[in-house]
Amino acid sequence: MTGWMQQRKTEETSGDEELQMIPRWSLILAILLFAAMQYIFHGVLPHHKHEFFPLRLLMGYAWGTLWASYALLLGYVSRDVRRRGMSAKLWMLVCGILPGGLGAVIYFLLRQPVLTRCPNCSTSITASYHFCPQCQFQIAPVCGVCHRSVKITDAYCTQCGHDLNVDGAPARLRVYSDEA
Ligand SMILES: [Zn+2]
Ligand SMILES: [Zn+2]
Repeated sequence: MTGWMQQRKTEETSGDEELQMIPRWSLILAILLFAAMQYIFHGVLPHHKHEFFPLRLLMGYAWGTLWASYALLLGYVSRDVRRRGMSAKLWMLVCGILPGGLGAVIYFLLRQPVLTRCPNCSTSITASYHFCPQCQFQIAPVCGVCHRSVKITDAYCTQCGHDLNVDGAPARLRVYSDEA
């Protein structure tokens, strides 16, 4: 148990972004729930005469892990909603009420893309944007004729065959297309 905790800690401080998404309260809740399950299986439930001890150990561990992961999941969702500009209260409620992690499944199906900032004016933008809605800064390379996305290594648009060098792409993009 302590080994697992230390591992979590070191991974968290090493700057793994997804692990930093798990807040401290949910980590503590997970450990408490795991300990509570051990207590229920080994302290509260009656011991039978001819019981198979490894099975009891296994059941306690399985239920403890299940509840602990549920707490970690709730913690993850509570942070994840913020960087996607979604309602934290609503989704914590959905994930908390629907049984067996069903709420979390729905959350992962319906969640909005992660919001980032425009490098030029800091407006909130999603990954699907080609241009900033506020300052027209080009975020992703697009064809100048049909405006579909192109790869920065493409010399010609794959949709309409337009010569992408004609668009006068930023120097960074042109360097790549010259090499191709
Ligand atoms: Zn902008
Ligand atoms: Zn095109």
